[in-house]
Amino acid sequence: MERRISRREFGKKLARVASGAAFLALAPSCTSTQRSLPMGQLLRNDLTDLSGTLLFDDPARQAAADDFGHIVHRSPIAVLKPGSAQDIVKLVQFANRHGLKVAPRGRAHSFFGQTQVEEGVVIDSSSLNSVRVTDSGSVEIGAGAQWSAVVTAANAYKRTPPVIVDTFLSVGGTISTGGFAVTTWNQGFQVDHVRELQVVTGDGQLVTCSDERNSDLFNAMLAGLGQCGIIVKVVMALVAAPTHVLFFKLNYEDFQTASADLALLAKEGRFNHLDGRGAAAPGGGVAYYVEGGAFYDAPKTPSEAPLLAGLRFASQTSKVMTYEEYYRREEVCTLCPTTTPKPFVYLCLPASRYVEYTSRLLADPSESAYVTPRMSAWRRSNFKRPLARVPNEEIVYRFQLSRVLPASADVPSFIALNRTLYERARDMGGTRLTSSAIPMSQADWIRHYGPAWEPFRAAKQRYDPKNVLTPGHNMFPG
Ligand SMILES: Cc1cc2nc3c(=O)[nH]c(=O)nc-3n(C[C@H](O)[C@H](O)[C@H](O)COP(=O)(O)OP(=O)(O)OC[C@H]3O[C@@H](n4cnc5c(N)ncnc54)[C@H](O)[C@@H]3O)c2cc1C
Repeated sequence: MERRISRREFGKKLARVASGAAFLALAPSCTSTQRSLPMGQLLRNDLTDLSGTLLFDDPARQAAADDFGHIVHRSPIAVLKPGSAQDIVKLVQFANRHGLKVAPRGRAHSFFGQTQVEEGVVIDSSSLNSVRVTDSGSVEIGAGAQWSAVVTAANAYKRTPPVIVDTFLSVGGTISTGGFAVTTWNQGFQVDHVRELQVVTGDGQLVTCSDERNSDLFNAMLAGLGQCGIIVKVVMALVAAPTHVLFFKLNYEDFQTASADLALLAKEGRFNHLDGRGAAAPGGGVAYYVEGGAFYDAPKTPSEAPLLAGLRFASQTSKVMTYEEYYRREEVCTLCPTTTPKPFVYLCLPASRYVEYTSRLLADPSESAYVTPRMSAWRRSNFKRPLARVPNEEIVYRFQLSRVLPASADVPSFIALNRTLYERARDMGGTRLTSSAIPMSQADWIRHYGPAWEPFRAAKQRYDPKNVLTPGHNMFPG
């Protein structure tokens, strides 16, 4: 039976349940700023012919010891800005020879140290940012590119990725976490549209994989949290871009009515863009709204009445945007400048338990403190990749707890709360999504992946036999 754990119990639980790895970094004494000189010297001596740069300076190492969550801090020995895939091959082969850990970093919008590595090397992929739309209607992308560059390049050919995440994120980061967005309700995750990957495996080989070639690696890389390899290039399918979007903001009196309309819209499929949000209400509290966007090619315009029929919103606004105005509407990460801790949690809940779960949480001031919820309803049948775990029902809800803490907050107690909320969701058939701030042990991951664990573990053993990659998820500790 579930119960809230105290801070003292939490401390004990850290060591027992989660092998300590993620939690120990919460304690300042465990945040190393000391370099291992011999390893640093070995790196300098060995990696002399890189086309990119290996940085040992404090600003580079400090930046790599932080992320969006500002909760975990682990200092690497160095940061690699690769000039090519070969630089990553050389580093990973070095790591295998010398027992060094390596972690790839996209835009570090992770919440709990998933891109960090204590006394290892962080690969800052931002230098691998090429984007090329091909004659076959797909796009070849360097893993460090931001999605904004991909969408802009595709739109020049009147094409678009079918699923566009927040465009300030990196391609490698969202392909490694799954990649959900406002079209996921009927288009699946971004990983459902990847045709091919180029990967530096954990044993330092540059390998191309797809459903036809090295499919075990392909499936282990899509939403694979960087455990088996480092993605250097992604080939993704594009679809025809609409010229315009008729965009609605539907305002609701309460969370549950907004959520019920989201599920109705996901079942009926009236809109292309479908998303639910909370925002601070002018008079205090949270106001909930649903965004619906109908894509179309001018001069043909969709009529409003059938799109809105039967919905239970209190008021609405609508506007027409060009597709470019639409995909550029939220180009900047508005929360990034906030330096206080942000232990966000992303859950996926079966529709049958969603009301029960969310009502309890939102009614409890201690559970909903500092939270702005976001939600989507998705059709499960669109998810094809084994590592993108969602509940086993026709309609599933994403429920996101964006918690921005004040500087004075007791962060460990909120991390313990995240764990409680995760266990409660899991016990109702729910799953976790992306790089959430939820402490996990290997046993938790095994349970999370279910039947997908054994092929994933086998791929890890085959492609990263010395376990050099991406320790921040605590999936293969030791
Ligand atoms: C403001 C904000 C908005 C967000 N919006 C969305 C959204 O729209 N959709 C969504 O799905 N998620 C979203 N997220 C959640 C999530 O944190 C990101 O999906 C994920 O972390 C990707 O962000 P990133 O590009 O910064 O990757 P990072 O955080 O840098 O990396 C994420 C994980 O992938 C690994 N990784 C990075 N690059 C590679 C690579 N080349 N090869 C192998 N592994 C790699 C990292 O080691 C890490 O484990 C958002 C998060 C924030 C803070």
